[in-house]
This record gives sequence, structure tokens and C-alpha cells, in this order.
Amino acid sequence: MPDDRPKMGPSTRSVHGGEPRIKAASAITNPIFQTSTFVFENLAEIQAFAASRNAGAPSRFEYGRYGNPTEQAATAKLVALEGGEDGILFASGMAAATVTLLGLLSAGDHMVITDEAYKKTREFAIKDLKRFGIACTVVPPDDYDAMAAAIRPNTKVFFTETPTNPRLWIIDLPRVAAFKQDHPDLVVVVDSTFGTPINIQPLALGADVALHSVTKYLGGHNDVLGGAIVGSKDVIGRIRPMHQTLGTIMDAHCAYLLIRGLKTLAIRVARHNENAQRVAEFLEAQERVTRVYYPGLASHPQHDLAARQMTGFGGVVSFDVGASQEDTFRFIEALKIPYLGPSLGGVESLVYHPASLTFDRYTPEERAAIGITDTLVRLAIGIEDADDLIADLDQALGQV
Ligand SMILES: *Cc1c(COP(=O)(O)O)cnc(C)c1O
Repeated sequence: MPDDRPKMGPSTRSVHGGEPRIKAASAITNPIFQTSTFVFENLAEIQAFAASRNAGAPSRFEYGRYGNPTEQAATAKLVALEGGEDGILFASGMAAATVTLLGLLSAGDHMVITDEAYKKTREFAIKDLKRFGIACTVVPPDDYDAMAAAIRPNTKVFFTETPTNPRLWIIDLPRVAAFKQDHPDLVVVVDSTFGTPINIQPLALGADVALHSVTKYLGGHNDVLGGAIVGSKDVIGRIRPMHQTLGTIMDAHCAYLLIRGLKTLAIRVARHNENAQRVAEFLEAQERVTRVYYPGLASHPQHDLAARQMTGFGGVVSFDVGASQEDTFRFIEALKIPYLGPSLGGVESLVYHPASLTFDRYTPEERAAIGITDTLVRLAIGIEDADDLIADLDQALGQV
């Protein structure tokens, strides 16, 4: 897993990062090791292996739930992209989030989570962890005094997400990391799914763990489910035992597809960024559209912060169609290029109506309080031609 080459640019790291120069059978790609277990020559080899594992540095593979060479190769590539020391791949983004929290927290501990974090993560932190004696405080994503005030002596995790979903709020990561000065035990976990290692490097900005749903940009083709964390050897080492016990490993075939996705990550993200910027600017210029949420727009309230800590603004654009809910539905259904569905980060554009699916169980008042109006539309921009996407939006807006 160690990569002793100097740290190169993001495109070079996408293609070559974490890879041994010479691979099995001299193949240029990493093979899929479709195996559930690994065999030993004799008992002496087993005993030598057990000794190495007990010393914290397993000398080889043992059993599929603990690791697989394809999964290890994919991990190494992501670790190289994030600039961390170690990482873990999971069967889903939610497996990454839940195992990370279970690995870092014990009964009697407390965590802080910023509002507008992924709904399932928030529910796990607030409801499920409570059953195990772990308390959670939700803080607004823009109130740093409230964040500081929420941290108690027993607060072990600060969990945040940037940009947030669906309104693309930006959290100032160096400012959050500064909370560790007064709370040295605090672990800052950043769900960087919307950011990607191409647009933002949470670890370099002071976070301890960068977390991803690789289902989104890292896989990039709407064909895998997976999750990942990257951080220091120490913090990842604290989470790994829970991962191995719960059996949340990414399977080898998925890991192969992830490696393939990561190879084109830098060029895909550049295109997502470019397309989303153009679409956001187009939407902002439309009289019908009352509000566009995109950190790359000068009108975004945190544009300067986004420009300071990100090198690109991502592929998700949310906006309010200034019309009735009926008209909003007509607009969405008139679109010919984006598919209608949840998720983001794939080559295909997707359109989504947050009030109908993610926030459907909230009352209209609760939705209004968090800005999820019935006319809010989320576009996950793919890598199609921006001109075609804009022409499609234009004709669909014409139906409103
Ligand atoms: C999709 C998503 C998740 C959950 O990931 P799964 O792979 O669906 O389990 C977590 N966080 C964010 C920001 C996401 O977009």
C-alpha cells in the first residue's frame, strides 16, 4: 500500500496514485480477486501471520471480511487522492458513516453534527446512537459560536458536511478544525461526498477523517454503491476493528469498478464543475427562477469562503422555480436529458424534487423552516455538453 512516489497533481494521482508499478501477471490493471478466503501452506505460516497481525501489521491476507487485494488497491488510490495515511472502503456511504461513529464513540460520549447533513446520517446520530447512550447536538451550519458552545468535555466527534445537500451551504473547515485546540480529543469528520478530493482536501484543511459516499462522484457512473474514509493511521486504526466485526467491506468487483471510476475522477469532476457553473449562470439569468443555490455564483452568500477552501464548486445546482408546485412538476417532467431520480455524481444528469422524496415526511411548515420549498429542484449535473443541458432547461422552463 505505501506509495513512495512524490505527491503529484490530482490527474496523475487519479491515474497512478496508490498503484504498484508492477502488478499481478504484469497486467496494467489491478485484477479482481474474486475470493472469500486465502489459504496457507502450513501451520507455521498461520502462526507467523497471527504474530504479525497481533503486532498490528498483518503480513498477508487472511479472510475476505478483513481485506482483499482489489479492495486494498482501491483504498490505496483513494488514500493517495485525499493525501491521507490510511483508509477503509465500505459497502455503502452509510456503512462508512455509521461504522465511523460506532468506532469513535462509546456510551456516555457526545457528538455534534451540523444541520443539513445527509438525512440518514443525521437520523443515525440523533436517534439510533441515543439507544446506545450517545448524545448528539445539532448545530446550524453557519453559526460558529453555537458550534463552539455545543462542544462539551465528553464531545468526541464533530461531524459535518460541505457543501451541504440540497442548498449547498459551505462549512469553514479550518474554523471547525480550530475547535480541536481546546478539545484535543475531538475528531473532526467531514462528509466530503459533494466536494470530492479534486475540489476540496478536508485533511489538509485540518479535518481528521474525510468520508465519502463513493456511490456518487468517485464511482462516477451510477453503477456502484460504496463508501470510504481516509485519515491518519491512528484514527483509521480506531475505526477498523468495528468495520471488520460488522462486515461492511466493499466487495472485490465493486472495488475494481471504483478503481476504474477513480482513474477518470479528475477529468470528470472538471467537466461537472464547468457544466454546473454554466447551468447555474443560465438559471440565475432566467426571470422565472427566483433563487439559485450554487457556491460558484458570486450571489452565493458564502462564495468567498467556497473560493478560499475549494478549487472547484461541484456538479450540484439547486434552484427555486418561481411558480406553483404544479408548474414545478411540469418543468421537471418536461426535461428530456436528466433522468428523474435521487443520487448525484454520475456521468448522467439527474433531476430531483427534495420535497417529494427526502423530505416527504416533514410538514410543509418544517420544510419551509429549512428552505425546502415545494418549488425547489435539485439538478445533479452530468458530463453531457453544457449547451445541450441549457437548451433542455430552457425548453422545459418554457412549459411553466
Ligand atoms: C449518498 C450520500 C450518503 C450515503 O451514501 P450511500 O452510498 O447512499 O450509502 C452520505 N452522504 C452524502 C453527502 C451523500 O450524498
